[in-house]
Amino acid sequence: MGILDGKRILVAGVTMESSIGFATARVAQEQGATVLISNFGRALGITRRIAGRLPTTPPVLELDVTDPDHLAGLADQVREHVDGLDGVVHSIAYGNPQTLLGGRFLEGPWEDVAQAVQVSAYSLKSLAVACRPLMGPGSSLVGLTFDATTAWPAYDWMGVAKAGLESTSRYLARDLGPEGIRCNLVAAGPLKTLAAKAIPGFEGLESAWKDRAPLGWDESDHTPTARAVVALLSDFFPATTGEIVHVDGGFHAMGL
Ligand code: NAP
Repeated sequence: MGILDGKRILVAGVTMESSIGFATARVAQEQGATVLISNFGRALGITRRIAGRLPTTPPVLELDVTDPDHLAGLADQVREHVDGLDGVVHSIAYGNPQTLLGGRFLEGPWEDVAQAVQVSAYSLKSLAVACRPLMGPGSSLVGLTFDATTAWPAYDWMGVAKAGLESTSRYLARDLGPEGIRCNLVAAGPLKTLAAKAIPGFEGLESAWKDRAPLGWDESDHTPTARAVVALLSDFFPATTGEIVHVDGGFHAMGL
């Protein structure tokens, strides 16, 4: 018996086995969910291959969150496999590592910033609206952030995009709450993934975490983050929305 028994969950943003979305899909299946995963573009072939490494091979949908046709067709794509969604996971972000990350904040060009905000923040709203016809009372949206309440070394414009994501989540909580749909985020500490490796200077964050997180921090262990996402998808947080749950070994609560 699992906490997602009978639930139908879409995990958007799975590329590699190292993706947080992959760990989330695995834990969701272990907890009894029927899972669908999605990705876009050239990496779709990789996603199809790694889907077979999950406990049950899930359907792989094509979804570029910036493509209006993909968003408009998403509900029909989902209905080919399940008749509704109890949960949607947004595990998506992109910012050009050459221009937006790694300490070049003052030079970040608007076109790249606009892309980062669209893919990493606005897309939570796009995904929510695309999935809205499939969801109902008790459904849950969960996204992933990197705590945007402070400025970090190297994170730069992605930090600004994450601040936008956090605000977007609160507005979705406001507008979808009356339909019984929750929206929450998990603020994970630094984890070794494709996206993280692309951030010049990311190792600095990892070593800060090792020094300061009272519970310690293993940047190769995605399971604590995945479990928190799954908990928020489940019926165990029925009255929680607009929330950000930190899964960071306690780093955020320490002064020094
Ligand atoms: P990841 O494996 O690279 O996942 C990011 C996903 O976003 C990839 O599947 C990527 O696809 C997808 N994506 C990018 N642009 C997209 C688009 N236009 N449409 C649809 N999908 C798109 O890295 P991750 O670290 O697991 O990231 C998942 C989430 O966790 C992100 O929101 C990230 O910011 C957040 N997070 C990560 C950390 C960390 O330390 N790793 C910490 C806190 C929060 P492609 O690979 O094909 O580009």
